Amino acid sequence: MSESTPSIFSRIIAREIPATIVAENDRVIAFEDISPQADLHVLVVPKTDEYADVTALAAGDPELLAEVVAMAKQIADERSDGQYRLIFNNGEAAGQTIFHVHAHVLAGNLGEGTLVGH
Ligand code: 5GP
Repeated sequence: MSESTPSIFSRIIAREIPATIVAENDRVIAFEDISPQADLHVLVVPKTDEYADVTALAAGDPELLAEVVAMAKQIADERSDGQYRLIFNNGEAAGQTIFHVHAHVLAGNLGEGTLVGH
């Protein structure tokens, strides 16, 4: 991934394109999804572009995956009631459009059918 054009998310991390950033630390960033599917819809993204999806992240750096989940929980606590849906789309057919691993954190007005990317 690093050898190709930087992902949109890498460009947000580099402040090359704007986003509404809601949390950030050394390794992970969170910002509002540009096309929200729920009252709260935030993307939590490892800063490294080394991992295309959560399967690769879990295998390569499980601690970083845990940091993504911890930031998701922190955001749900701060911006909703602490209960949230955590979605990783894995592969194009599953709705993944950006191949820089990211978690969708959704809360509020979640219908049973809420699916991201569909
Ligand atoms: P995926 O479909 O890969 O699981 O999720 C990609 C998500 O990124 C989509 O929900 C889409 O709305 C969001 N997205 C795409 N481009 C941008 C952008 O430039 N800024 C922000 N904040 N979100 C984006």
